Formats: sequence, C-alpha cells, structure tokens
Amino acid sequence: MAETLQQKLDLVQQRIHAACARAHRDPAGVRLLAVTKIFPVDVIREAHAIGLREFGENYVQEMETKAPAVADLEGARFHLIGHLQSNKTKKAAQIFQTIDSVDSVKLARRLDAEDVPLDITIEVKLSHEESKTGADAAGLTDLVEAVRTSRNLQLKGLMTVPPWSEDVELSRPYFAKLRELAARHNIAELSMGMSHDLEVAIEEGATWVRVGTALFGKRKKP
Ligand SMILES: *Cc1c(COP(=O)(O)O)cnc(C)c1O
Repeated sequence: MAETLQQKLDLVQQRIHAACARAHRDPAGVRLLAVTKIFPVDVIREAHAIGLREFGENYVQEMETKAPAVADLEGARFHLIGHLQSNKTKKAAQIFQTIDSVDSVKLARRLDAEDVPLDITIEVKLSHEESKTGADAAGLTDLVEAVRTSRNLQLKGLMTVPPWSEDVELSRPYFAKLRELAARHNIAELSMGMSHDLEVAIEEGATWVRVGTALFGKRKKP
C-alpha cells in the first residue's frame, strides 16, 4: 500500500502512463494538477519538494491565507479551480497565476480589468445539476470571444466536472463533449478527470488531470 506522498505520486504517474499507453498518447501531453484544497501549507511544500509545480485550490480566502507561506516555492503555479465570485477578482488576480473556473463574460471582463496577466481556462457545465457552476455550452462562443479579445487574459483551455458516479464510464460522454467543444473553438487544453476517473479522461483527450485524494488522501469537510 502507498504510504508516502512519493509512493502515491508514483502510483498516479503509473495510472497516467498506463492510460496513455492504451490511448496511444505521449504521457508528456498529460499534466498533473495537484489539488491541495483543505490541506495545510506543509503538504504543498512537501509536494513541491518531490517535484510537483502546479497546484489547484478551490477557495480564494483559503489561498489568501496560504499564499505568504508558499511565495518562496520556485516555479510553483496556483490554479483557482473553484467558483469565483465577481467581487473577488482583485484578490484572485493577485494570488493565482491561472483561473481555471471562468464561467461568464462578466467575470472575464472583471478579471481583465485587474490589469494583471492571467491564464484562463473556461469551466463548462455539461450536466444539469443545480449544485454545479460553469458556462453553458450555448454561451461558450461569446465567452471565448470575450477572453480572446481581452488585453490581459490568455485563453488556454476548457474544464469540466461531470456528475459524480462510482461508475467512471458515466464520465466518458462529458469528457468527449468537452473535447468536441474545444476542437470547435480551437482551444488546446482540456482539464478533465480527477482521482477516480482520470483514465477515462485521458482516453478522451485530457491534457490536465486534477488530482487531490489519490495524492493526499481524504479531505476533511471545509
Ligand atoms: C476537489 C477537486 C478536484 C480533486 O478531486 P479528487 O477527487 O480529490 O481528486 C478536482 N477538480 C475540482 C474542480 C475539485 O474541486
């Protein structure tokens, strides 16, 4: 059984490599976003020490408290993967290098107005769950246009979170749909797949997988 973070990382890398082999993909084309929400700063520092550089956090306020203690980590980049309220764009633009949950034109305009260069990923909501956020596929054209015509934002990718299911095959149609939308809009990166369904996401073209539990263990409720 995997005990240390290094062992858990090795297992995640093996899963990524095996999925890439099945899908005839180069593993270099799948990047790992280590999701450290709820975990303390020591966990981020330990992950950085074994080579991880890209981190996902869900809450602006939580990252605000962590930021000073990770500011010295060479090459570390922080992605906001949780919903961003438009009254928190100033803070978010200061402490994150990339906002991966942009879901409205209004939010994109506010981020652009902060006058900081930011990478952007658009979160698309492909399910009908009330609890989920994300742009609808129908509004995507306007949102893509708003980001592409902005001064400070660089459109990198699309992200989605399918409905949770034990059966990972149920995630597949959502991942396939995201890939289609990205192709239609000529968008390169696809952030999809988490601890339980990263294989299916890689088979469907993920270029980023967002992994928390498989690396760091179970989270306590926020
Ligand atoms: C928490 C979270 C993850 C990580 O999920 P795990 O199942 O712990 O790997 C990935 N993406 C988003 C958007 C999250 O909120």
